[in-house]
Amino acid sequence: MQVSSENQSDRQKILSDPKTRELLRRLIVEGKSLAPEVGGDGQIHYLAAEDVMGGSAATNVWIEQMVGSGLMKKTTYKELVTCPIHFRADPLIQLECLKCKARKMRKTALVEHLYCGYIDNDAKFDKGGFLVCPNCKRPIHKVEELRSSGVWYECQNCLTKTSLPKVVFTCRDGHEFNTADLRLAAAYTYIVDDSVVALLKNTLILAPAIASLLTGMGYSVVSPATMQGRSGTSHTLDVYASKGVADPNMAVTDVAIQISVDAVAVEPSAVISFFAKTYDLRPKLAILVTIPSASEAAKAINAGYGITLVEDSDGSGAVQKVKALLESADKPAPK
Ligand SMILES: [Zn+2]
Ligand SMILES: [Zn+2]
Ligand SMILES: [Zn+2]
Repeated sequence: MQVSSENQSDRQKILSDPKTRELLRRLIVEGKSLAPEVGGDGQIHYLAAEDVMGGSAATNVWIEQMVGSGLMKKTTYKELVTCPIHFRADPLIQLECLKCKARKMRKTALVEHLYCGYIDNDAKFDKGGFLVCPNCKRPIHKVEELRSSGVWYECQNCLTKTSLPKVVFTCRDGHEFNTADLRLAAAYTYIVDDSVVALLKNTLILAPAIASLLTGMGYSVVSPATMQGRSGTSHTLDVYASKGVADPNMAVTDVAIQISVDAVAVEPSAVISFFAKTYDLRPKLAILVTIPSASEAAKAINAGYGITLVEDSDGSGAVQKVKALLESADKPAPK
């Protein structure tokens, strides 16, 4: 599969993997990012990727490879509290009394009656379902008559009050740790790099669309195809389709199609590399789909090569253009 130019061979190698293509297709077509989730084992998982890659170890290797090649990038991250021993990110969190160490803290909101300035625990203002100030005894009709003045925690065991109780974490593997020993683990969200989305959108979506067009026109289609040329060298094509191979009464027609997508007009290197393949494979028709266009230099170099160039600004009209080309090629030549 060709992305922007043939010299991006490591990217090409990565993108030739069917699982990678499928996962990228899902992320791009569904516009999703790869977001971290904490699984039942307390570890960070990327479930959308594991679904395709088949496990968390394979997923982590894959993500590293994608980031390393610039196909995906890290975006946001959150620091998750994890246990320092098992690195589990799903601890149980409790508040502990600093004095008696009981874990029976009750959270209390302090409210102020604006009319008289009296401050007390919000429960004290509740008189049988009606709000009444315990100080001035006036009924309170609107929430605006009260102002929140902070929060405290009261131990149900020794009645000690504090605004900063001790936070205790219990690892689900059965031990405790506190804010001094916890470990923070960065959990990143990954996205397909913008520069790659446009390139992949066309190759991942356009090649299958052209393949199904050709199938509908009675061709037998391989996509992507690896073909051996006359020289014995193997070549890869985005789409190869043939017709009439099994029928001795029919002339054999075949077509080789390569898709070249770039941010700017496609350079001559794409034409040259496709020509090297078609010269060796000798298909009846060789089509190079260039998105958004073929550069003037690419067109000039192609003058002697005989490749049919199809240009399409965003890829959306490319299938129709290929269809029109094939239909005119299918017609018998006028006598
Ligand atoms: Zn643990
Ligand atoms: Zn009052
Ligand atoms: Zn206590």
